[in-house]
Amino acid sequence: MCGVLGVSGVPEAARVAYSGLYALQHRGQESAGIVSVDPDGRAHSHLGMGLVSEVFSDAVLDNLPGDIAIGHTRYSTAGSTVLANAQPRLVNYRNVPLSLSHNGNLTNAAEIKDDLVDQGALFMSSSDSEVLVHLIARSVARDPAQQIRGALEQVEGAYSLVIGIGRTLYAAVDSRGFRPLFLARLGSGLIVASETCAFDLLGATVIRELEPGDFVRITDGQLEELPPLGSRPRSRCVFELVYFSRPDSQIFGHSVDRVRRELGRHLAREHPADDAEVVFSVPDSANAMALGFSEVSGIKLEHGLIRNHYIGRTFIQPSQAHRVAKVRIKFNPVREVIDGKSVAVVDDSLVRGTTSKGLVQMIRAAGARKVHLRLASPPIIGPCHYGIDTPNPEELIATTRSLDDIRAHLGVDSLAYLSLEGMLSAAGGENGYCHACFSNQYPTHIPDNPIQLRQIPPLIPTHA
Ligand code: SF4
Repeated sequence: MCGVLGVSGVPEAARVAYSGLYALQHRGQESAGIVSVDPDGRAHSHLGMGLVSEVFSDAVLDNLPGDIAIGHTRYSTAGSTVLANAQPRLVNYRNVPLSLSHNGNLTNAAEIKDDLVDQGALFMSSSDSEVLVHLIARSVARDPAQQIRGALEQVEGAYSLVIGIGRTLYAAVDSRGFRPLFLARLGSGLIVASETCAFDLLGATVIRELEPGDFVRITDGQLEELPPLGSRPRSRCVFELVYFSRPDSQIFGHSVDRVRRELGRHLAREHPADDAEVVFSVPDSANAMALGFSEVSGIKLEHGLIRNHYIGRTFIQPSQAHRVAKVRIKFNPVREVIDGKSVAVVDDSLVRGTTSKGLVQMIRAAGARKVHLRLASPPIIGPCHYGIDTPNPEELIATTRSLDDIRAHLGVDSLAYLSLEGMLSAAGGENGYCHACFSNQYPTHIPDNPIQLRQIPPLIPTHA
């Protein structure tokens, strides 16, 4: 998952992009980057490993002049965690700069890359996004919009993109619309961003969400709709609503906060925890779910776990070793809430179970008499091929153990998942969502070795 951002027609665009990326930090914490374009059409770039606040300083932003900027926050799904894979990608292209920020995963990137390498193409990274740059560069069309369209017609999978060619920005969403992308007005300029929370921070006014297949051109802050990229059944990622997006964002036509409350209400109806005296969330993504659970069940809502916000989201960390170490310092139980009580704990989902097992041990050590774990989404039974870093099936707890095995493994008195129907109903209905990681019903063809790109080391293994 990544955060993408574009700014056009706004003075000091790099500073605007910096603030916007700050609001999109939850979408990727491994690297951040901004490319700015000045009035003479020259590009200026700075990329680095780490958080937005770590990568950029006043001095760095002073060296990114111009009224156009493209930004990116990254966490790796396709490609290793190294600076060579950071975005925006910037190349010289027919004597103008071409920069590209991509959110999503291309399911046929490995096949296309093999073909391009056979034809002599040189790749500088192991990221699937570089494939798009090559396809654009190889186009025989004269118009940049046609070059981009030609490239996008060759790729499969998920992309929400901001592309700069010279002083023009293009924004596009794949025709299934897996990942969100929004347009907003800031003064006489335009902003494109993955989530609306970025606009709130900037004081920008939302124009609209880009629909699946939308393709737009932005020149000096002026918007031009281009013919759409084809029509396919919508596959909005339901996990964006369950876990990934910020609760203060609006995505896919819904308030993330409202959907999460509804998930909690459905969960309480399907799987009440009758003898629980208090209910609390695993903060932060499950906060609204616990609120909805409390509303319907009548069980008192409390803050039973306090989260240290300065560590990073365990799910986002790329290696198992990091994950285990960070769980222990990420949460602390509130003994006064828990001691001697039967507690219902609401979480958004269960992936490997590593975090939950550690949490349950902490809650028991804080004196809980009983622990009822309630999950506001169904069991995760398959990997995501569209940009979220769910692990391989053999690492998913729900594919390797029965429900009772998982309950015993986590050490809880009862365990229940929200049904697929319940989750989709809370998200506004069954139609238009991808739920493949919960159902194994993938909306696209999946190649035999779709994770091949993740395992190819970059040619230039640069560490920041
Ligand atoms: S497989 Fe799961 S995480 Fe991936 S796009 Fe579909 S719903 Fe979202």
